Amino acid sequence: MFKAFLIKYAEIGIKGKNRYLFENALRDQIKFALKDVEGEFDVVKEQGRIYVEALSEFDFDETVDALKRVFGIASICPTMIVDSNEWDVITKSAGEFVKNVYGDQSLTFKVKAKRADKHYERTSPEICVDMGAHLVDQFPNLTVNVHDPDIYIYVEVRTRTYIYSHIIPGPGGMPVGTNGKAMLLLSGGIDSPVAGYMISKRGVRLEATYFHAPPYTSERAKQKVVDLAKLVARYAGPMKLHVVNFTDIQLYIYDQCPHDELTIIMRRYMMKIAEKLAEENNCLGLITGESIGQVASQTMQSLAATNDVCTMPVYRPVIGFDKQDIVDIAEKINTYETSIQPYEDCCTIFVAKHPVTKPSLKVIRKSELNLEEKIDSLLEEALNTVETILID
Ligand code: ATP
Ligand code: MG
Repeated sequence: MFKAFLIKYAEIGIKGKNRYLFENALRDQIKFALKDVEGEFDVVKEQGRIYVEALSEFDFDETVDALKRVFGIASICPTMIVDSNEWDVITKSAGEFVKNVYGDQSLTFKVKAKRADKHYERTSPEICVDMGAHLVDQFPNLTVNVHDPDIYIYVEVRTRTYIYSHIIPGPGGMPVGTNGKAMLLLSGGIDSPVAGYMISKRGVRLEATYFHAPPYTSERAKQKVVDLAKLVARYAGPMKLHVVNFTDIQLYIYDQCPHDELTIIMRRYMMKIAEKLAEENNCLGLITGESIGQVASQTMQSLAATNDVCTMPVYRPVIGFDKQDIVDIAEKINTYETSIQPYEDCCTIFVAKHPVTKPSLKVIRKSELNLEEKIDSLLEEALNTVETILID
């Protein structure tokens, strides 16, 4: 019965040239989301609509789940396609549609119609009235209620005709790729995958950077981050994951700087390196999973000290969220279970017992002077040995 899905999207701000970019990005993301779903699909743009048409047998639930991960989709309507716009064929098909979907349930209904061709033999109100009468004749259990019906039957007449009744909510947002690209600092924690998800929902393509400190952090910890990147990519699309070997820089900071300042100084170097990688890869900003006051390195003073090294905007979408709010999203997007796997993180290994919670920028900058001798060559080395993994 359902061989296609009509994809509806919010039309605000997508007039003219933007519309074409928006629709193409949406089409590409739909194709990406469907690549692992059983079945073959065609994604068709037609007169201000996008349809996903199945070319083979397919798994309905899996398909809907995949489409629910495509940002920019406002709703997903499983649709019957009728290869004709002749009235007799349409009414016959609408009868089959109602019989298949609703059987002989007693329901009130209303027909809503659209026609693409203004010269079509019936106006939209005429289609509604005539179709309503036809269905009432054919199904004694159906009655018309135009004010508060149990169900709507939508009929869209184009060169072909589309009949649908269910409207499944999509995720909203904007298609990935319509709003530039940003670099996510992705750790193995709960917060950064959620942060990446939130920014990509606004149409931003992602790249990710992970700071790895072997042998202090294991291959398994790195694999966990790869797994998280894959889970985020289910929404955000394919992305590059840059793995930076941070060990020598961390050890050098550990040797040269006061231990209660370690975390802040480390975070400043992470941001610096991420910004360099962002510039090299045409990203327009950085993304972190920081939230005010969550840990010592996320007080207002610590955030100011971390931010101080960046010239790019740093997007922190969970900045005002409580941990539970972040966990709720992590559960919804299915990253939570992976995030809580107990593998060490490079920040936790070198962490001081009593880290400063109100770092003074002046003091931090002074401590960093101790790094002058070797830090430039270590940064260069870290950037030259980045391992880039394509996540798709
Ligand atoms: P998360 O749950 O995201 O790990 P967190 O509460 O553990 O966050 P921090 O360890 O202070 O917080 O890190 C704050 C942010 O810094 C993270 O959200 C992430 O964006 C970035 N970050 C921390 N560690 C790393 C790392 N090893 N690699 C890449 N980014 C990191
Ligand atoms: Mg962390």
